[in-house]
Amino acid sequence: MKFFSTRKNSPEVSFEGAIFKGLAPDGGLYHPVDEPDLSKLFLKMTRQEDFASIAAKVIANLFNDEIPQDDAIQLCKKAFPFSPKLKKLEEGLHILELFHGPSCAFKDFGASFLANSMEYFLKSEQRQALILTATSGDTGSAVAQAFYQKDNIDVVILYPKGRVSPLQEKQLTTLGGNIHALEVEGAFDDCQRMVKEAFTDPALSEALPLSSANSINLGRLIPQSLYYIWAFTQLKGISDEIIFCVPSGNFGNLTAGVLSWRWGLPVSSFIAATNANDVVPEYLQTGNYETRPSLATYSNAMDVGAPSNFERLLTIFQDDWNVMKSMIHGESISDEETLKTISDVYQEKGYILDPHTAVGVLASRRFREKVLTGGGEIVSLSTAHPGKFVEIVKEATGEEPQLPEALQKVMMGKKQTTVINNTLEELSAFLMDNFA
Ligand SMILES: *Cc1c(COP(=O)(O)O)cnc(C)c1O
Repeated sequence: MKFFSTRKNSPEVSFEGAIFKGLAPDGGLYHPVDEPDLSKLFLKMTRQEDFASIAAKVIANLFNDEIPQDDAIQLCKKAFPFSPKLKKLEEGLHILELFHGPSCAFKDFGASFLANSMEYFLKSEQRQALILTATSGDTGSAVAQAFYQKDNIDVVILYPKGRVSPLQEKQLTTLGGNIHALEVEGAFDDCQRMVKEAFTDPALSEALPLSSANSINLGRLIPQSLYYIWAFTQLKGISDEIIFCVPSGNFGNLTAGVLSWRWGLPVSSFIAATNANDVVPEYLQTGNYETRPSLATYSNAMDVGAPSNFERLLTIFQDDWNVMKSMIHGESISDEETLKTISDVYQEKGYILDPHTAVGVLASRRFREKVLTGGGEIVSLSTAHPGKFVEIVKEATGEEPQLPEALQKVMMGKKQTTVINNTLEELSAFLMDNFA
């Protein structure tokens, strides 16, 4: 499989090339050139197969020119010691729980596959990589966990001092080993700027094998298609018409679902569920795409005013608004509605939703009432464990959700960081001292 840039001004690359480059040289995102037809493979898969085995079959088919089948099996086994779970919430509506990985959010799937793919290529070529990334809190923890103890790779994570939650800070700083946390005297924007400056600094690029692992990386996008395919196998015999509802911010998760449909998964619609940051639902309604500064909401991992993967969606739908809106339905949910949904679902079903998942569940229920006339099962993606959002969940339900066990352990670890000022000079000095 080869990949091209969404801006169409860069050479095509292999999967390996795409994951180590991150962003294409023209500033575009890497995207598959071909859309292989995997429908026969999907039909042959059974409910009994575990997630890692289904993942390996798809990956071996997609990347047969770079990752032979036996290697794909090993890679997926290592990448996915955790699995999604599908739970029926009510008639016609299922929750796809994606929070059973080490950081208790769906980003574990993408981060873990990327980390293991990088390790696979680096080991066979006996070279090193240094991953440099900035985080405002949540995404960095999935990356830290995923790359921990990977051979041939060091990770440097910049985060704004005093501006991430205590749990997030523990997740970033207690692993040690090849995970190096830099506490920056400044804001998240400073961290992002410093990382950008480091990547464009000729002396650093010369001296260090720099790579990124941010959410636009193709190595994080592709594996997110796998749980849509797995969910389809779980509903075999119940329904062959599936609607997926995806709580969205940067729209990587939804884009991955749309890719699985392009490869032949029988999906009848996608629901793009957002909070008040509704530029995509608005585009689907009006045909006008207007990015704007993000608004702060309860589902803060979805507070995105200029979704980075929208370029990929436009590429898939060839800029055709009519085709896109025939396949994707948009819904925007307010904070008040989010809170009420957590409360309603807890009272009706005894099931606790996190705020991001609640946005998806209400969007799913609305879709069922307004749009869905015939049958069809809705699968609503649950992107995080409710225990990560104690305050909001407590406000909605009166109950304090349990912190998942994986995170309770993290809270007991010891923080290890290096404090630096918000300048490229200090970042360069740290990198050169430790890794050159
Ligand atoms: C990142 C994230 C999202 C949004 O996913 P995108 O791929 O950016 O659309 C939703 N929920 C949670 C909990 C997240 O961490």
